[in-house]
Amino acid sequence: MKLIDDIYVYPWTSYEANNCNALFIDGPTPALIDPGHLNFLGHVSNGMAGDGRDIRNVKLIIGTHGHPDHIEAIDSFDDSVMRAIGKAEFDYMSGGGRELFMMTGCEMPRKPFSFLLKEGMLNIGEKRLQVLDTPGHSPGSLCLYWEEKKLLISGDTLFYMGVGRTDLPGGNMQALAQSIKKLSALDIEYLIPGHGDIVKGSDTIKKNFKVVIDEFF
Ligand SMILES: [Zn+2]
Repeated sequence: MKLIDDIYVYPWTSYEANNCNALFIDGPTPALIDPGHLNFLGHVSNGMAGDGRDIRNVKLIIGTHGHPDHIEAIDSFDDSVMRAIGKAEFDYMSGGGRELFMMTGCEMPRKPFSFLLKEGMLNIGEKRLQVLDTPGHSPGSLCLYWEEKKLLISGDTLFYMGVGRTDLPGGNMQALAQSIKKLSALDIEYLIPGHGDIVKGSDTIKKNFKVVIDEFF
């Protein structure tokens, strides 16, 4: 589903079809954010095909965090595809982060990450995205903010009317509260969370921050 120019979203619809909202950024370096579970990758590839996009052209995959429902499918891509995840998440996945994969019976990604992301700017083709460290749901969760389009990819840090769980291994409620307060300072027109509804319009998004901060923290 095309959201705006060069941005395509394959939203969560059901447990049987997929597990997370996957996002495709078109351009000279076609990028896929959070491909999801391996057995649900067809949801993404079929969705992309319906939009006239070919998943085989993807050159970069970014995981907002290292949970299996967001990145299990990462190993199914060709070795030439670049893979990236937050530096802190990578460190965590090398230790305690394995636990969640074992708990859910999923395979840890085996193919090496091409580079690790830290807070700062990331160029994807001609697009400049801001990488924001947003720990809490997991130790190295990150969000991506595209200032030019006022678009935030929030992973499992922030949802519509909700926040990410902190009861999974490595979760931290205080860190999550700080991360969400940090995000609330951004000017956002499009909020694309890792699960649930996509939120449009800065007033609705501001209201969402208020509800979430009042309700959960
Ligand atoms: Zn998660």
